[in-house]
Amino acid sequence: MIIVCPACGARNRVPEDKLEANPNCGQCQHALIPLAPIELNEHNFSNFVTHSELPVLIDLWAEWCGPCKMMAPHFEQVAKQNPRVIFAKINTEESPRLSGAFSVRSIPTLVLMNKANEIARISGALRSTELQQWLDQQLNAKTGS
Ligand SMILES: [Zn+2]
Repeated sequence: MIIVCPACGARNRVPEDKLEANPNCGQCQHALIPLAPIELNEHNFSNFVTHSELPVLIDLWAEWCGPCKMMAPHFEQVAKQNPRVIFAKINTEESPRLSGAFSVRSIPTLVLMNKANEIARISGALRSTELQQWLDQQLNAKTGS
């Protein structure tokens, strides 16, 4: 399975049974699947999302957005619980073209991507239990189980 390093962008091949063992980047030793959400922006987004073979859940947020700040600790908590999903944040003010490409109408918006395709999205702040439930539903729908 190809995992893109969130720090240096190198593509790492990781056996599927090693995903939960905190694999590190062969180039820079950074954790490949950090327990905290990673930052995506206009520079690293396309390389990361195009080549990552794990689903990527993106939180589109902004500094001035109260509900976004309320959701942040919940998003971090769910990130810790899901080592097979990469959690990422996009600051919509720092990456306006990227958020424009997602046609985001309100924030926070969560977009779930798999192999560069959007498979689901939801808007509005969610608590950790709601977020986990929504994520499970989308992933189950994708695999048909
Ligand atoms: Zn790296």
